[in-house]
Formats: sequence, structure tokens, C-alpha cells
Amino acid sequence: MKRIIVATNNAHKADEISHVLGMDGLEFVTMREAGVASDPVEDADTFEGNARIKARSAHEASGGAAVIADDSGLVVDALDGAPGVYSSRFAGEDGNDAANNALLLERLEGVPEAERTARFVCTLVFIDEDGSERVATGSVEGRVGRVERGSEGFGYDPLFYPDAYEGALTFAEVPQADKNLISHRAMALRAMRDLLG
Ligand code: IMP
Repeated sequence: MKRIIVATNNAHKADEISHVLGMDGLEFVTMREAGVASDPVEDADTFEGNARIKARSAHEASGGAAVIADDSGLVVDALDGAPGVYSSRFAGEDGNDAANNALLLERLEGVPEAERTARFVCTLVFIDEDGSERVATGSVEGRVGRVERGSEGFGYDPLFYPDAYEGALTFAEVPQADKNLISHRAMALRAMRDLLG
């Protein structure tokens, strides 16, 4: 059984990663369980760059253990890719989901339906004990709505209409188990499973 540290302090993400990849005989532990402390500055300008910063930092802090890290966000075409790597702090360092969503709506005011295309993107970086790397990316296409709808999920979910539901429901209106089948994180995890298998 190979032991892999999930380099995130987000318990929900650690669970999702363990759930999808754990079935292949891999054992996942949180940084806390592994006794590893790592909280690097994520200052890269790509999702892959930030995922690598988190993975490398935890790999080094653990003295060379196998680790996996992710980075994700919303990419809006009409905003030239914003909020992108700034998704969690779009409305400022002290921002929150409500402030981020309000700012997104403000920036898209007057933008017609056809130009409100966007995608959630997730990149995973795995670093093995020997320092070698594997990278997998997943995305889910959709559009940004005009009012928040739904109470499930988190982040930009109440504004994001995934194409899979043909504009009828936001990610905050579908059961999370269904979101987890088609989400950017699910796609990246499946691609990573193929790379690790
Ligand atoms: P991070 O990967 O933890 O840095 O998250 C980046 C940010 O992207 C989050 O704080 C959310 O604002 C946004 N985000 C990432 N994934 C999702 C999602 O599945 N739904 C809604 N927002 C998301």
C-alpha cells in the first residue's frame, strides 16, 4: 500500500481525492495526519504552477514523501480568463464567496448570454518519493448566470450553469454527488488515476 500525503488543508478536497484515487490500493493521509506543516505563498500565474508550489513545499517539508496537491478556479472568457488563479481572492484577500460572486456579476454587467461562457479548471500535481512529477488537468464548461441560484456547493457554484444541464440548473442546484461526477476536480482525478495506474 503506497502512502500519499494530500497537500491541502481543505478536508473536503482531501476526502474527494481519497475517495476517487483510494480505490486503487493507494492510501491517502492529510498533512496533519502525516505531521507535516506547509503553507507556501501561491504566487504562480497558472493553476499548474500553484499546484506545483503546494506539492513541492509539502514534499520537501515531509522529507521526500509522495504528495498530491491541486489548484482550481473559474476562467471567464469575457474577462480574459479572470478570476482564474485569483478565484478565491477575486474581491480581495479578505474576500468571501458572496463578495466574489457580487464582483463577478458586476464585471459581467451588460455582457450578453452568448458571451458569458466560462469553465472551472482543476490541475493536480503528484510528486513521487524520487521527486518525479505527474500532472493532470480537468475542466467543466458552462456559463455565468445573472443571479445566484441554489444553496449547495461553494464558491461560484450559484452562478455557474454547467453545459451538461443545458442552462437549466446551476452547480448549486444539483445534488453534490451529481456535481462530483462531472466536475473539473472529478475530471482531473480520473486523468490522474490513469497516470498512476
Ligand atoms: P483553491 O483551489 O482552493 O485555491 O480554490 C480556488 C477558488 O476557486 C475557490 O475558492 C472558489 O472560489 C473557486 N472554485 C474552485 N472549485 C470550485 C467549485 O467546484 N465550485 C465553485 N467554486 C470553485
